[in-house]
Amino acid sequence: MSTSIDSPTPAIGRIDPESISQRFAASAPSDIIRWAVDTFGDGLLMTSSFGAESMCLIHLLTRAKPDVRIVLVNTGYLFHQTLIFMEEMRRRYGLNVLEYHSHHDPLVYLTVHGETDPRIRRDVEGCCRDNKNEVFDRAMRELAPAAWVRGVRADQSATRSRMQVVQWNTRVNAWAISPLLNWNHRQIFEYMKYHNLPFHPLWQQGYTSIGCNPETCTRPTATDGDPRGGRWGGLDKKECGIHLDQGAGI
Ligand code: SF4
Repeated sequence: MSTSIDSPTPAIGRIDPESISQRFAASAPSDIIRWAVDTFGDGLLMTSSFGAESMCLIHLLTRAKPDVRIVLVNTGYLFHQTLIFMEEMRRRYGLNVLEYHSHHDPLVYLTVHGETDPRIRRDVEGCCRDNKNEVFDRAMRELAPAAWVRGVRADQSATRSRMQVVQWNTRVNAWAISPLLNWNHRQIFEYMKYHNLPFHPLWQQGYTSIGCNPETCTRPTATDGDPRGGRWGGLDKKECGIHLDQGAGI
């Protein structure tokens, strides 16, 4: 049986995530985004890593709401190509990017935590907690969105396959909306080609999912392999934690 949840924003009213997610199960991402913009307006924001295919969701959302807030979590260990790419996209498309930084100086952090080789990370969980999750949580607290648009897809991991297009996220205290959830890699690629959207510069070098620069965290992906297979290769880790909502068990 589906359950309705009272939104903390009276104008938004009651949202039934299960029936809405069912309604959107076969919908085009643009239809989901139209609903989100009409429902949440300026209360909407999106996160983006400015990774391999990030311009797909940015393009979809900014067509409907050009001034939407786009949050980039800067851990201090992003590829320099990512930051250059973000600045280029910000200028070219007039994006409203809000960059949130780790409180830690990247070099000092490695020294203090005994990380002697910057190309690898021995304590991945600790580093993600201190330099990624803290930054994300701080950004969400400060920006207090009514709804958060994210680029997860069901075919990326078992965790993501259990997500719904629209669901309440207790961690962010907002609705989490995943317009690309039921799209596959090929549909993203075709959308980007059709709209002549740029890929991250490392995409051509085989990086199909791009996070931080240590080899522990991002490697090129085998051509016929899992698109996220280059993330934390060899570790039992598929998520940095941003998309994990402990409160909802997701
Ligand atoms: S992905 Fe790697 S470098 Fe980035 S915050 Fe997590 S452990 Fe640190």
